[in-house]
Amino acid sequence: MLALTALAASAAPGRANGLQPCAASGTALGVARIVEIDTSTGALFGSISAQARESRFLAPKEVVLTFDDGPMPPVTRSILDTLDRFCTKATFFSVGKMALAYPSTIKDILARGHTLGSHTWSHPLNLRRLSLEKSNEEIEKGYAAVTLAAGQPVAPFFRFPGLSDSGPMLKHLQQRGIAAFTVDAVSNDSYISDSAKLLAHALKEVEAQKGGIVLFHDIKPATARMLPQFLTELQRRGFTIVHMRAKSGVEPMPDYAGKLAPLLAKSEKAAAAPGLVPFYGLVKPGEMAASDGLPVTEIAPALKTRPETTARIAAAKSTVTKTAVRGWSARADAPVAAPAATVGSWGTFVLPDQ
Ligand SMILES: [Zn+2]
Repeated sequence: MLALTALAASAAPGRANGLQPCAASGTALGVARIVEIDTSTGALFGSISAQARESRFLAPKEVVLTFDDGPMPPVTRSILDTLDRFCTKATFFSVGKMALAYPSTIKDILARGHTLGSHTWSHPLNLRRLSLEKSNEEIEKGYAAVTLAAGQPVAPFFRFPGLSDSGPMLKHLQQRGIAAFTVDAVSNDSYISDSAKLLAHALKEVEAQKGGIVLFHDIKPATARMLPQFLTELQRRGFTIVHMRAKSGVEPMPDYAGKLAPLLAKSEKAAAAPGLVPFYGLVKPGEMAASDGLPVTEIAPALKTRPETTARIAAAKSTVTKTAVRGWSARADAPVAAPAATVGSWGTFVLPDQ
């Protein structure tokens, strides 16, 4: 709790508004270019998957920053403040339940110009262990919740909890026009709570993978604490940031949206949100997609055949080292710890008044 309180206190002053041009953009890390992804074919990006993937769209030393599992207000807001300070952008894969519990933080992510995707409704540790019906429900309910909390369409960007994907689930994403993202560089912030050690490990991974999609979690105080040094080091070592955005938003399934709307109302009432309008005003769909003259690379992957069974593709070519894959596989089923003072295990987490 102490760490969270300290974070909240340090995050408050000097908060920048994402709608304003970044004053330090001449010298800050910033964003080198934008990649706009057409998700209509349900492509799969990133290195850590046994399924058929797209080739890497990043040049060596280009980095995409991603944050999973939030929003967790004190941690997420500290991360947002740091990203503002470095004039840079990231992608957040938020959990549906968390989004409904903290809708104002979700709106803040979008207001500051970041990309928002989903990471299921309740973060089951391994979607492959659920029936296809249940896993698809987790995916769809997650999008309905994040969209409701955002108050606008979100990106059809999905990340599997524990990177636990399968052919049938990817086929469902294809049918829904949702792209999935695995990872190139794993920071291991789920397991390293010492910020200095986390910084060293994350930098080592990014160097080993020559950049790529980097995985962090915006429920981890150590991640928020080390992020300023991490971004400073990236810039010093000549890495640049690529911001991913979607060509169009995802349409949530109306059944789930209807069922979840009362939960959002309860959550907002509990938080005494003043009319749901944040201090920066309402953000219109697409308003934050302005490129500000940055080069935009458009990607429209061709449709791939997805297997009907959960069997992995044996001969999948992986650009990840065997050590990294072994390390990840060994940990794929480990519980993702949330700060105990605020949220219990994923299994016991409930919305306010639920
Ligand atoms: Zn996760």
